[in-house]
Amino acid sequence: MSPIELNKRQEEILQIVKNNGPITGEQIADRLSLTRATLRPDLAILTMAGFLDARPRVGYFYAGKKSAQALADTMNNMKVKDFQSMPVVIRESVSVYDAICQLFLEDVGTLFVVDTDSYLAGVVSRKDLLRASIGRQELNQIPVHIVMTRMPNITYCTKNESLIKVAGRLIEQQIDSVPVIQEDPGGLKVTGRITKTTITRAFLSLSESHEL
Ligand code: ADP
Repeated sequence: MSPIELNKRQEEILQIVKNNGPITGEQIADRLSLTRATLRPDLAILTMAGFLDARPRVGYFYAGKKSAQALADTMNNMKVKDFQSMPVVIRESVSVYDAICQLFLEDVGTLFVVDTDSYLAGVVSRKDLLRASIGRQELNQIPVHIVMTRMPNITYCTKNESLIKVAGRLIEQQIDSVPVIQEDPGGLKVTGRITKTTITRAFLSLSESHEL
């Protein structure tokens, strides 16, 4: 999310209100040698964006960074590493049956699949397991690597990325979660996970920190 860009006149208005508030629209207009009508759109934008507070019969106050810019800053500063949860990882030789049990035991919707060197090999979701279960009797005999989505088609993220970017990736790819990975010379190590629940939790913490 890019910060809100103010034009030169809006910056001037902000400065005037900062130094002289509370101040009426009329008084701001006088200082800028403009009419009140000319200023109206700028004042509306600054108020809506949270830079200014307006009180009837008193005038405009400087609301500080706290609403608009601070919210944008907080959102941009939310990093994967601050919100990620523990990944649930299985080997690719594990059967579909055992993967389903694991899903219930760990209370997750997606399992990350790793190879014998513990590097990311694939992702297996609820629907992958459901699809494999329809009409098949031998769930004990089918290994998950048959039904998983495999590398290099896995969407992932790293711990220093912005959470907002990862949220965009979940929506774009229509998936519920991504593994947080660390790149090793031999492959990708799975160190965490970001899910739609993570994003919802971050969304809530945003509202708490800004007392919406
Ligand atoms: P569900 O099975 O509950 O719909 P998803 O929407 O996450 O869960 O999964 C939809 C499909 O996308 C599945 O086939 C799954 O293997 C695949 N998938 C899930 N997560 C990822 C990911 N991070 N990268 C690539 N594919 C994924």
